[in-house]
Amino acid sequence: MKTIGMIGGMSWESSVEYYREINNGVKQQLGGLHSAKIILHSVDFAPIEKLQHGGDWDGTAQILTEAAQSVEAGGADFFIICTNTMHKVAESVAGSVSIPLLHIADATAEALRQDNIVKVGLLGTSFTMEQSFYKGRLINNHGIEVMVPESQDRNIIHEVIFKELCLGQQNPQSKKEYLRIVESLSGKGCEAVILGCTEIGMLIGQTDTDTPLYDTTKIHAAKAVEWAL
Ligand code: GLU
Repeated sequence: MKTIGMIGGMSWESSVEYYREINNGVKQQLGGLHSAKIILHSVDFAPIEKLQHGGDWDGTAQILTEAAQSVEAGGADFFIICTNTMHKVAESVAGSVSIPLLHIADATAEALRQDNIVKVGLLGTSFTMEQSFYKGRLINNHGIEVMVPESQDRNIIHEVIFKELCLGQQNPQSKKEYLRIVESLSGKGCEAVILGCTEIGMLIGQTDTDTPLYDTTKIHAAKAVEWAL
């Protein structure tokens, strides 16, 4: 079994889910007392969140580069960045180590492609929904058409992520809003919606809607198990 390098803490609430999903995945495949071999580097999210909102992505890349180098030095065979947003600096971080990065958007695109889905809605932070680093990869590398919510709804999604979900809070009113936004994307012709922020699965899930949901935390963790085994 290969050792997975996890760069987590963004937020730690979703890193817990990653840890559970990855270990459950290994247990399911190997049985008994088997569990995943993981080197976890968990960062302090507060300074990173400040750098993100201040637009200092080089600053965030520096922190993640140190984290990637530390999981490599610790013996990881490959690594994952346990957040969609921070894939904004994935290229430079991946370039600073010799172990491969399992990119969250590639794992998600592969899952969509397997189900023949080519038109999706994307929920995530404003950075993920509005900039090209994530959408562009889905469109250009995988031929998947991506729609995002209207501006006002993007604000709602973004605020709930940072003011509630990253703090471990699940608010019923926010859940209603999220589901309304999912339905509106589906009404506009999206065949599925990507939960493109690793905390969203803590608020809404497949039992809440008929629209197929692609939870990036689960997909990324499952792909990490596949790579490890
Ligand atoms: N975990 C979130 C994501 O998947 C948001 C936190 C962050 O900004 O990294 O995008």
